[in-house]
Amino acid sequence: MKNVPTIRFLGAAGTVTGSRFLLEIDETRILIDAGMFQGLKELRLKNWDTFPIEPASIDAVVLTHAHLDHSGYLPRLVREGFAGHVYLTEYTGKLAEVVLRDSAHLQTEDAQYAARKGFSKHAQPRALYDEADVETTLRLFTPTAFRTRVDIAPQTAITFHPSGHILGSAFVEVEFARKRLLFTGDLGRRQHPLLTPPDAFPPGDFDALITESTYGDRVHESPTNDFPDAINRTIERGGTVIIPAFAVDRTEVILMELRRLFENQQIKRVPIYVDSPMALASLGHYRDALHKRSPEIRSDVAKQWSETDPFDGGTLREMKSVEDSKTLNDLHSPSIIISASGMATGGRVVHHLAGSLPNSKNSVVLVGYQAIGTRGRSLRDGAKMIKIHGEQVPVKAEIISIESFSVHADGDELIEWFQGASQAPRETFVVHGEQGAAETFARRLTDDLHWRCEVPKDGQQFPI
Ligand SMILES: [Zn+2]
Repeated sequence: MKNVPTIRFLGAAGTVTGSRFLLEIDETRILIDAGMFQGLKELRLKNWDTFPIEPASIDAVVLTHAHLDHSGYLPRLVREGFAGHVYLTEYTGKLAEVVLRDSAHLQTEDAQYAARKGFSKHAQPRALYDEADVETTLRLFTPTAFRTRVDIAPQTAITFHPSGHILGSAFVEVEFARKRLLFTGDLGRRQHPLLTPPDAFPPGDFDALITESTYGDRVHESPTNDFPDAINRTIERGGTVIIPAFAVDRTEVILMELRRLFENQQIKRVPIYVDSPMALASLGHYRDALHKRSPEIRSDVAKQWSETDPFDGGTLREMKSVEDSKTLNDLHSPSIIISASGMATGGRVVHHLAGSLPNSKNSVVLVGYQAIGTRGRSLRDGAKMIKIHGEQVPVKAEIISIESFSVHADGDELIEWFQGASQAPRETFVVHGEQGAAETFARRLTDDLHWRCEVPKDGQQFPI
């Protein structure tokens, strides 16, 4: 479709991971997000597919935020030949560096493990990318201010707006071949404890809106006492609370909530261990943004916490080294361990689960989205056995799932945000949701707002 601007969906279509949207006109190609597929094996294998177009032919990549399902494919794209600019906001750059270094480390470890155990089909299993690819990728980062229009390629300009999802996160207006598009990225909620709410829906006409729908079929429950109650029950039993948490943002939100619960005397002041190098690096950037009074941080929060640390209720321990982490294997008094990854697919939390799940004194509190095919999802769905490091581990610990910490807008919140649009976009593409959630949300957009909607299939291309 030469001479006609098009959009191609190369991921996050009927699923929540692998956000990659390609804009094309004549010789110009722009990729919005370069996310990794996560969860089910059939999805993870897609990270290894040949990219549908020559990566070297892409003019620029635009990243909405640092989460792996939006940024994690980038070093692979670079390894395969992409060498253009990567446009992102200042804190997306800082956090993406943390996320991508950790990812390269995990990729390399997995490849070495496969080689050692001999279960790979390849004689020399290779990593999807390694630390050298990440170094090359970081040099392409081009930090860009919020609310500032920037020309990034022929016939292409972008404007980032704060989306209130995580530090640095943006929704992005794209002007492309005289068309106007809006990508929501991941849209946050108005009540993030640290971040300012998303900017309003930008004025004017849009030819296409590309919206997430992670929780498009649901309405978040209001905060309840389930979280402190679960912690109190565990403390009374003398057990350990394991909280698998996304290293970026979720750890910060949970730490702030725990401090608040300490101060209100809703839970006892037990030690809190943050056991994830990635989470600690991210925490450093959040502290930096707070102390610099970054405009992304709520001004009341910045003012209140200008002298002290909102993340530490007095018992915070930062477990940096592997040796530190190992000391947590024999804790004898009640405590809380926050560790990544958030869906228990890797990272130090997997070791803590292996040690804690067989004992009914302990609990596991799930505080984030759990994609199909992950250990976190199996736990949430009530599995009695979980496979860890090739062995079946019995699940005797109490499992609690709490949704109110979500930093994704739900169906109602998305609709409310869209109601700020001055008119209906010519076409709305519903992505970044499991098939059911995306379809339910698309029906709501049609019924409630009378918007024209499409739930694209993986690989599908549309004229804009
Ligand atoms: Zn996200």
